[in-house]
Amino acid sequence: MEPRLAEILEGVRARSGRVLALTGAGISAESGIPTFRGAEGYWVVGSRNYMPQEMATNEMFARAPDEVWRWYLYRFGVCKDALPNAGHEALVALERALGDRFTLVTQNIDGLHRRAGSRRVFCIHGDAAYVRCAGECGLGVVDLPAGLVPRGNGALTPSEREALRCPRCKGWLRPHVLWFDEYYDEEHYRMDSALRAAGAADLLLVVGTSGATNLPMQIGQLAYRRGAALVDVNPEENPFAEMASFSRSGFFARGSACERLPEIVRALGA
Ligand SMILES: [Zn+2]
Repeated sequence: MEPRLAEILEGVRARSGRVLALTGAGISAESGIPTFRGAEGYWVVGSRNYMPQEMATNEMFARAPDEVWRWYLYRFGVCKDALPNAGHEALVALERALGDRFTLVTQNIDGLHRRAGSRRVFCIHGDAAYVRCAGECGLGVVDLPAGLVPRGNGALTPSEREALRCPRCKGWLRPHVLWFDEYYDEEHYRMDSALRAAGAADLLLVVGTSGATNLPMQIGQLAYRRGAALVDVNPEENPFAEMASFSRSGFFARGSACERLPEIVRALGA
């Protein structure tokens, strides 16, 4: 490990500091889950290709709920087949070592942190394992109904359409994920909790995120302004690496989550 990185981590460990880990698509990519932001996220409806930024919207769901559900069932199938990797496992070990001094905020909806064994997780973009009523009738957040078949083509079957009805008001259920034309909130996406954790952290450990979305950048800026240590783990430079370069105790740890996290969490006492 680079001496400067070791020094920063040792400083956090020595003062029993609080750690906030912020993860993004990069950590899941090592489990074989594509980001769905590029070509792998395209979806064909009729003769037109739709981008994820068009599919994952309230507007599209209002217009074509069947299509949006078919796309999600395909994506969820990919998530279900994937397994947690050494990066996820390192963060579980860190949680066990630090207890309530550790918080994990993830942008990933694939549930891999939960399946690896992480418990203190805020899913700020939702979680594919759950659904809620599209009409907000008060159903709450419930498990994705069983028996839905992920597939790339063919319409929803009558029994699938039935399974995707809200048991309370009979309207559509929707995926429990944040759409591009929606806002972060506390109730569904734990925005306030995530910002509170950023406001208390002695170390922000950013893993595999490009900083493309708003709340992760707010978390980074909050930690930076407070003078928290900032370690960015990523194969490529990104806005968090730049933030780390300006920070008094910042470090850009070039590499993937699987490559870098095991030694980083050991240095933090896991
Ligand atoms: Zn309902």
